[in-house]
Amino acid sequence: MLFFDIISLFQNYESFKDSSVGSTKIFRYSDLLKVMNKYKDICTIVPIGLSIEKRKIFKIKWGIGKIKILIWSQMHGNETTGTKSMFDIFYFFLRKKNCDLVKFFKKNLTILFIPMLNPDGSEIFQRRNAVNIDLNRDAICLQSPEIQILFQEIKENKPNILFNLHDQRSIYNVGYKSFNPAILSFLSPSVSMEKDIYSISRKKSMGIINFMVKELHKILPDIGSIGRFSDELYPTATGDRLQKLGYPCVLIESGNYPKDFQKKIIRKYTALSILAGIYFISYKGYKGEYLEKNYKSYFSIPENKNILLDKIYRKIQIHKNKNKFLVDIGLMNFEKFDLMKRNITIFTKIVDIGDLSNFFTYEEFIVTGNKFYGEKGKNFPEIGDLENFKIF
Ligand SMILES: [Zn+2]
Repeated sequence: MLFFDIISLFQNYESFKDSSVGSTKIFRYSDLLKVMNKYKDICTIVPIGLSIEKRKIFKIKWGIGKIKILIWSQMHGNETTGTKSMFDIFYFFLRKKNCDLVKFFKKNLTILFIPMLNPDGSEIFQRRNAVNIDLNRDAICLQSPEIQILFQEIKENKPNILFNLHDQRSIYNVGYKSFNPAILSFLSPSVSMEKDIYSISRKKSMGIINFMVKELHKILPDIGSIGRFSDELYPTATGDRLQKLGYPCVLIESGNYPKDFQKKIIRKYTALSILAGIYFISYKGYKGEYLEKNYKSYFSIPENKNILLDKIYRKIQIHKNKNKFLVDIGLMNFEKFDLMKRNITIFTKIVDIGDLSNFFTYEEFIVTGNKFYGEKGKNFPEIGDLENFKIF
């Protein structure tokens, strides 16, 4: 058996990271066209259809193995980490093509990667497609050409396993006991409203996720951990639909690490998690009951809790008329893409006011008893206000 050494991959990551892939959050169609070229010698790259605004959607094929893994990214155009991580993996395949692990993958796997399922959204750093449909809620009606292309590829290739790559907001904490941001989260989507029904496809993806999480625990950072999404069924979501149709689907949400605004650290964890997943699949195979053997351990991965804010000011005194109140003010960052400058501006807005003692935060200011001074002489905040207030 070939040993999968995630610690050494983690330590040597910089040597196989594709540094031509930018380190900002933006990854547009023009970036994709440039980056893909480099892999022409080791991959087959073909257009498989057109988006609403007639941009090409590509499929990159690597490997000669029997096990087919189909991976797609950027179905939400502004969720770019998965795409970058996958190019790091291809760079690893390119640079280390004579290493045993890469040869082992190549012999056992055929990887089909659709690097940007929503190129129109990606072009303007937008979640939805050109007519504002959320592709991840279009898996039953199949109205968008982009989602039709994905389903057509799946129908034609009949992959054994699917990986669905996303980025998640910074609001998720692993567990509820301490500040512990979800650096990565996983989901094996449900196949039924009834919680304890597990299809073979779901058991397989649960088993794969178990292995990935176990490996990631060997390289966890000082802060943050790995979370699991709740089992709630979203019938119109892509993963839920495909898993119900019998395709094991692993959903990865690239999360957040304190001050890693460009997600450089998260990109590394995402790439290593995918490598762990494909190692497990190529080592165990997809037939028999090897992948799903320990599927129940999936539930020992702690659940994500929506109890994390970007910033909290604690115990501020606000007042209206002659009444005084002691409150916490919670804020979140919102991104706006400037098409002309091609950069992202961050706005921090108030999202909650009151007792936020059960919320954790990336940035905390304990200002006990200090007074709030808002714009235009107002002494209490409003939800949605920008961080334009003073405290003293
Ligand atoms: Zn997403």
